[in-house]
Amino acid sequence: MYHGGKNRQWGCEEFLENSLPPLGYHTVHLAGREILVGFPGMSPPELTPMLKQYFEAKAACPGALLLFRMGDFYELFDEDAKTAAQVLGLALTSRDKGANAMPMAGFPHHQLDSYVGKLISAGYRAAVCEQVEDPKKVAAGQIVKREIVRVVTPGTITEEALLDPKQCNYLAAILPPEEDGEGEILGLAWIELSTGGFWAGTFPKSELYDQLARIGPTECLILESADNIVPETLRERIMFTKRPAWAFGLRTAKDALLRQFKTATLEGFGFAEDASDDPAIRAAGAILDYLTETQKGQLAQVDSLTPYRSGGQLEIDEASRRSLEITETLRNRRREGSLLYVLDKCMTSMGSRLLGEWVANPLTRLKEIVVRQDAISELLNNDEITRDLRDQLRRVADLQRLLTRVLQGRAGPRDVAQIGRTLRSLPLFREKLVGLTSILLKSLHDFINPCEELAERLGRALVEDCPINSKDGNFIRAGFHEELDHLRDLQAGGKQWIAEYQYEQAQRTGISSLKISYNRVFGYYIEISNTHADKVPDDYFRKQTLKNAERYITPELKEYEEKVLTAGERANELESQIFDELRDAIAEMKVPIQRTAHALSHLDVLAALATLARDRNYCRPRMVEEPILLIFDGKHPVLETSEQSGTFVPNDARIDATHGVIQLITGPNMAGKSTFIRQVALLTLMAQIGSFIPAKEATIGIADRIFARVGASDEISRGQSTFMVEMTETARILNMASRNSLVILDEIGRGTSTYDGISLAWAITEYLHDYVKCRTFFATHYHELTDLADTFEGISNLNVAVREWNDEIAFLHKIVPGAADKSYGIHVARLAGVPKEVVVRAREILADLEKTHVDATTHHLTDLPTALGVTEHQPETFVKQTSGGQVQFSLFGPEDHPIIEEIRQTDMNQLTPIDALKLLSEWKQQLDHDAKKHRRKRS
Ligand code: ADP
Repeated sequence: MYHGGKNRQWGCEEFLENSLPPLGYHTVHLAGREILVGFPGMSPPELTPMLKQYFEAKAACPGALLLFRMGDFYELFDEDAKTAAQVLGLALTSRDKGANAMPMAGFPHHQLDSYVGKLISAGYRAAVCEQVEDPKKVAAGQIVKREIVRVVTPGTITEEALLDPKQCNYLAAILPPEEDGEGEILGLAWIELSTGGFWAGTFPKSELYDQLARIGPTECLILESADNIVPETLRERIMFTKRPAWAFGLRTAKDALLRQFKTATLEGFGFAEDASDDPAIRAAGAILDYLTETQKGQLAQVDSLTPYRSGGQLEIDEASRRSLEITETLRNRRREGSLLYVLDKCMTSMGSRLLGEWVANPLTRLKEIVVRQDAISELLNNDEITRDLRDQLRRVADLQRLLTRVLQGRAGPRDVAQIGRTLRSLPLFREKLVGLTSILLKSLHDFINPCEELAERLGRALVEDCPINSKDGNFIRAGFHEELDHLRDLQAGGKQWIAEYQYEQAQRTGISSLKISYNRVFGYYIEISNTHADKVPDDYFRKQTLKNAERYITPELKEYEEKVLTAGERANELESQIFDELRDAIAEMKVPIQRTAHALSHLDVLAALATLARDRNYCRPRMVEEPILLIFDGKHPVLETSEQSGTFVPNDARIDATHGVIQLITGPNMAGKSTFIRQVALLTLMAQIGSFIPAKEATIGIADRIFARVGASDEISRGQSTFMVEMTETARILNMASRNSLVILDEIGRGTSTYDGISLAWAITEYLHDYVKCRTFFATHYHELTDLADTFEGISNLNVAVREWNDEIAFLHKIVPGAADKSYGIHVARLAGVPKEVVVRAREILADLEKTHVDATTHHLTDLPTALGVTEHQPETFVKQTSGGQVQFSLFGPEDHPIIEEIRQTDMNQLTPIDALKLLSEWKQQLDHDAKKHRRKRS
């Protein structure tokens, strides 16, 4: 005995074979198995044929809400109804009354897309169960046949209305390493169902998080038994769907893929000959299996699998991606305000999606970057051509998604007409591109295939304003199909035929007043007044007698009448047949259309980047292999656009043989340190997608990885302490960065006590300098770190200029060489609106601390740590005053203590043992005195 699922109402865990079903459960048969289903509490005889059908459908889609088509409505029952009522705001009614009342909720069929969309965004799956036969044709006493035609889940949506046109929608599958297996390699595959793009690769297990962040799937299949490897934080944005082990099976995966692609081997796609145990292939197989189940066979667009190889892309880990706000903002996860938002000047949604891919996967191969740059340069230099191309692109439809709809048999006349219009515009693109010489633009020109014959046929076939649904009819042009024209003529009453026939009959009979008319009761008839009764031919049959006239019918007229009456139906059938042929013709041209779509999306992205470069005065960065970075007058690409026009202060970034590989940036809060270091990372990323950048001039060494350890504001809600997150990210950087990486660090060590923080920041900087040697920008408020520049040749100081007058400060946002000498914390507090009393009091305390506890010329113990709230078990420290009067903690305090200095100055050879003992006693006394004073202050 098999039970229908985990849900209490669909299964019965305790049910024993050969025993009677408990109250409220029924046995139904599904795919040759017995399934126990039911609503607990409902008495068994209540299982009507329709409920039985419902239960069977429900059991076939565990985990999904069942939308059960009943006439013009989709209905949900029981728990599903309660959920839907809450999520969709539907009224909760009840199917039966009394003890067996079953909750029910529904909506009109034409609102399917919008309700499914709401269910998906609320994190549910929806199974659509349709009536699959015409209710009119169902024999009396029988119920209409119903079947689940689709299970809609976040990763399997292809409905235009439910998809963001500018964003890819990925379904991924993870096959984790086997527990007893040797390696730590996992298989990962991902598909964009609305376009058919399908990839698979293997990755170290540690990269799972980063790879998922790069791909950004909305749904992810995971091996049932390994569900625990998914971090909770990922579940917020990705729906994880557990799949059984057999779905990831070794041989089944490969066989299913070969069947789908209609090939004999996967070698052609770039996989190894015996790829059946490749975890990547197994993950891809699991995707295909899931799609077969949810899409019910509509998978014609899935025709290849691309192996994903690491190394060709700039790697950016999940945390860095988030904090650099590449595709969405950190705070509210919106596209607006991200780098992608600023770059996206595309005219088509295909272009926007491709740009999203570029930004998520910047390049690392010099040649590939330069090829894109050359194309952008050429478009920039041919402004008029670029403008014309963009003007044309504005009218280009989403060929990729439209083609998929055609291949799935779901495209309507409006979709097909859009494909036709786009195809007809292609010669113009080729014309514009023909004279251009850069490699990429030339190849795009060659890729664009105007599919003339198909384009012309679609143009001839379809009217200008096509309906969305083919059932609406009347979208094939007059003159395209002779028989259709004839049927339509008939449908319209066949005025011409009737006129001709009337004329013919009048001639034949010699009755000039003979008239052919139509009425609903008698149909067509020939009316002859009684005065001409003697001229009526024998083949006229009397139909009706009037006072002064007779009405007749002829066999020809009868035949014609039948044709007219069925013409509408036949015209619709024929139209839909013609439409199917048009769809088939498009499907046959799948490959050239896909390539054309690919070319148009590339052209769109390149033209958009060229336009952006022109409008915002970007420069073409010189790309080199050596790990250097020289940016002159660089601007933050996003802030530059949002700051009031012209107010963003440009800055230089220099890392090469003469400027330190590690640059420490000090300066007050709000000065612009974070902005500067993020700017450097974003400009490098932009350069590596091939884009021009907001700077006057730049030379950028290609980075293999970018690490951005910036803030950790939202981590507490994710259940990790801010400091733990900070250190985890830092550990990754230190372990994974290579000499070619670019690292930006913002305020390392802030999440712990000052001493821990400084010590860690210090040691991390040394480590980066000595071992990793990668380009690093480190913004810090620890002034102590600026001393590092004195010791290490590869470390240099930068600070952000501040203008100070009359106790006021102004941030100039200008990065200048050298260390900052002042913290300005109290100024910033005042600017932030901290009450005046607090600001004034803070100034007093600061002055007091500086005066009382710090000797301007010597260094000695202080109780400053207590004033700053440092706890007792922490080591005591020393403070010193900088030339600017700024109080700082010194890492070298103990060595600089006056007693140490005295020991240094003491000549041991001149001391008698007694003198030595006296001296020792003096020093001890002095230290005891200091310690006592220190303790008194604290208490
Ligand atoms: P910090 O990291 O030093 O605390 P931020 O980088 O967060 O400072 O900058 C604070 C604010 O200063 C930013 O939100 C921005 O409005 C402004 N700002 C930063 N850099 C510049 C600049 N180069 N030009 C103009 N305004 C800037």
